[in-house]
Amino acid sequence: MHDALAAWLRASAATIHDQAEALTGLDRAIGDGDHGINLDRGFAAIVAMLDGRGAPAADATDAAATADLLRQAGKTLISTVGGASGPLYGTAFLRAAGALAGEHTSSGAAVVAALEAAAGGIAALGKANEGEKTMLDALFPAARAARMSLGEGGDLATVAGAARDAARAGATATIPMLATKGRASYLGERSIGHQDPGATSAALLLGELAVIAARPR
Ligand code: ADP
Ligand code: MG
Repeated sequence: MHDALAAWLRASAATIHDQAEALTGLDRAIGDGDHGINLDRGFAAIVAMLDGRGAPAADATDAAATADLLRQAGKTLISTVGGASGPLYGTAFLRAAGALAGEHTSSGAAVVAALEAAAGGIAALGKANEGEKTMLDALFPAARAARMSLGEGGDLATVAGAARDAARAGATATIPMLATKGRASYLGERSIGHQDPGATSAALLLGELAVIAARPR
């Protein structure tokens, strides 16, 4: 899983870079217009970290090497992104790393555990829940859909595809929501009618995960 994680981080960095303008545009409508810039900076730093990193220790298990890389990526986001999204995504990565270090029956099960831990970590740090027009409106539905797909016998690609689809639907569903957390909440009723930038970036990240998960290994 270590190499797939590295590939996901690189693919995510490329997509975030491509979509930085669009994400920043969404944040201009209901925030301060920096979400794309923030994440682009953070993911560029993750790519630099990957480039400077040697191969995992020979005696490390794949699970341990994967968790360690995700932990490094989380720390990088926390230390390089100034906006709320850096600590929130960074904490999500750290929590997901903790979940990945445990025992899993399959890589699909590992993804479910990581997603649930990530969403829970953001909810705890942001003191937020679903329905408040944040990234959690993409991530909690994604975690639920992934859990359901796994329960139905889904393999890694199916589980990740279910997470992506639910995250996209969840991001779209933020449009009519009233923001009650983060900068967008300062707008009150004027936050209604715009898609949340963080939910949109979460759907992009899970879109890249689904692409990697569908690759033959
Ligand atoms: P900032 O709001 O500091 O400018 P960003 O623009 O990078 O940070 O990120 C904004 C996104 O962060 C929002 O679109 C929302 O999805 C997410 N967000 C903000 N506050 C919270 C919170 N308390 N809990 C969960 N997500 C949040
Ligand atoms: Mg912002």
